[in-house]
Amino acid sequence: MAKDNFNCPICECTRSETLFFSKKEDYGDILRCSDCRFVTVFPIPSNEIITSSYLGLYKERENMEAVDQLKFSQVRPSVSYYFSKIDSSKKSNRIKFLDIGGGLGYYSASAKELGMTPYLIDLDSESLNFAKDVLGIQKVFQGTLETFCASTDEKFDLILLRHVIEHLPDPNHIIAKIKSLLSENGVAIIETPNNKSIEAFLNFGLGKDFIRKLSKNYSDVSFRTLIKKRVYAMRPPIHLNAFEISNFQVLMERNDLKISEYKTYRLGDPIFWPNFKSYNSNGLKNFFKSISFIILRSVFSRKEYSGIFLSVTHKE
Ligand SMILES: [Zn+2]
Repeated sequence: MAKDNFNCPICECTRSETLFFSKKEDYGDILRCSDCRFVTVFPIPSNEIITSSYLGLYKERENMEAVDQLKFSQVRPSVSYYFSKIDSSKKSNRIKFLDIGGGLGYYSASAKELGMTPYLIDLDSESLNFAKDVLGIQKVFQGTLETFCASTDEKFDLILLRHVIEHLPDPNHIIAKIKSLLSENGVAIIETPNNKSIEAFLNFGLGKDFIRKLSKNYSDVSFRTLIKKRVYAMRPPIHLNAFEISNFQVLMERNDLKISEYKTYRLGDPIFWPNFKSYNSNGLKNFFKSISFIILRSVFSRKEYSGIFLSVTHKE
């Protein structure tokens, strides 16, 4: 069934298919664009609903008192990898690193260790206080990307949008803002869950959790319907969008940007996702679960793993 007023934020097509109907008023249904296969929630939930779904999320999950050395050590290989994407002749100048939605600031602190000047934007003031007071990040900004852009003329050499774009309402608008902030030879790194990847779904714990959370708010959600409809990365009102790599090719083309490199990565990837364990090998039961996960993954993943990595530059 097509939705009136739908206008795909990726390709501007107006035809869509409703995949899952919302059980709750104001949550929006889950739709797939008939042209580019982008999956989104429509209509977008109100700001109040989006904001309230984040309340307390940081505090529950994160230690806000001292530096978490394990977390820091897991972030360093990622930031070194991002840094390696910058043309080495540019590294003689001080590299300005912009971390959009960077939370507690571990990526910024790691960038600082590598000699870059970090700028951190986030909505959560407590996270920013931690970044400032505990990690020593001086340039922090509380607000949206929109308000940050309005407040500065600066350009950035390395921009990081790591697992953020799926949380924000208008991906095309976000990419346009990133373009406006990117220095002439700058590189933007974008990471997001891959909606084409069945990998996380095959993991017993994650798959079950995903179905449980989605079925709270949407009707007809089951293992069978999710596989049939190929939805692996949606969770409104937290994840409002679910991408595949081709969606970004359209987005970058629209914004006159170029994808210089792209790939997908596995859960637990040592560079991109070391904090995300793909399986637990403790105990005999878990050992057999892990083995079956690895076999299922190699049979069904078809080289489409859970995370998308993109590095993006201006067109020459
Ligand atoms: Zn589309």
